[in-house]
Amino acid sequence: MTGNIRDLSTYSQNDTEKMDLINGVFKEFPLFDSIKCCYKDVSCSKIESIDFSEDIDELDESDDSKLILCSPVFKETPSKYCPKCGRKYLKADIVCLDCLVHLKDISDKVDVRDIKSEPKFTFVGQNNYSSFDELLNKDNLLKINEFDFTIDDYSTILHDIKSQAFLNFDNLVKENEIYYDGLDILEKVILFVKSFVKVEFKSSGGQLGYFESDAIAIDDRSTKSLQITTLIHELSHFLIQEILIHVLCKLLDSTRNSFTESLVTFILSYTHFTQLIDEYAAHNVEGRFTIFGFQDYSSFTDIERKMDGEMTKDEIEITKSIGNTFALSIKEILESLIDREMREDIKEQFLKDVLDRPNYVALKMENCQILNDEGFIKAIWLILNEGCEVAASNIDRLISI
Ligand SMILES: [Zn+2]
Ligand SMILES: [Zn+2]
Repeated sequence: MTGNIRDLSTYSQNDTEKMDLINGVFKEFPLFDSIKCCYKDVSCSKIESIDFSEDIDELDESDDSKLILCSPVFKETPSKYCPKCGRKYLKADIVCLDCLVHLKDISDKVDVRDIKSEPKFTFVGQNNYSSFDELLNKDNLLKINEFDFTIDDYSTILHDIKSQAFLNFDNLVKENEIYYDGLDILEKVILFVKSFVKVEFKSSGGQLGYFESDAIAIDDRSTKSLQITTLIHELSHFLIQEILIHVLCKLLDSTRNSFTESLVTFILSYTHFTQLIDEYAAHNVEGRFTIFGFQDYSSFTDIERKMDGEMTKDEIEITKSIGNTFALSIKEILESLIDREMREDIKEQFLKDVLDRPNYVALKMENCQILNDEGFIKAIWLILNEGCEVAASNIDRLISI
């Protein structure tokens, strides 16, 4: 495969879903209807000028509909549940006849923070490389450069990651006998994230959270909504890494192991190009599950500032388009576990905790372009091909990861 970052702009198209989500911000915050938001010189040309006051009536209607709750009718409130199938039972019931297990009291709540999880994501190939020299041998570098990889292969990878996460989630719930309906929205998100990666809680330091090798650490002193957005942000970093590990293993017909993992960690961190993509995608996934306009883009702008003219404005916009396209894949994976009702709950928790107005300056830096399939495959090639070439001549740096 051939090409460079500038060629990718010919493959970009509008991300209409993101445009709608950003427009939705103005509907959620009608109080600021005197402000007109102009997206000049950015890619969201379709939402150039929005008058917030127009849709307030529409908003009231849709908000009312959110208040209609569908809960099963019980004359007596159920106080027990089946630890296997999760069905609710009344106080007098003792066993679940379908599962043949004793019922548990709903009040005996398991604290999901304390649950130990060792989520597994596997990829099995014919080869199992046991050194970076073997992994990055000449033949393999050629295979990566040729890039015999299609969008169908990519869809299979997303499907595999989804199904392994489902399995991990199911095991977590069953092994720990969790009464899922009794969890609040933060606990549900923690449980989902634990189906992908280990989660640790910290009560010191200034960072809200971070992802390092195989664990996410979050600060449990922050508000519930901030913990949720931080978890989703850090999980996105994990998933970009996971997707690229699977692509690499598919290309090299290799089993996933610590060498393939470290190589992708290196690729995502050695250059500002991949750092920007990784960071922009994570911010974007946050916006798609909470609300655009409340993200803290400082980690993205910090990288931008450090670059000192290394990339042109157009090239930076392309990294955002690549990030947006990765964000769509991550959203697809997460939506299989975080359904519409949960997304509404996340939004409600967010609106409960956040009293500020959306950050209009941050909204102006949103890019609403995604790459088409051909462009996205080229972008992944560019990331892996350049990354592996640099890695091959810096093996000593890989060893220290
Ligand atoms: Zn049961
Ligand atoms: Zn980040």
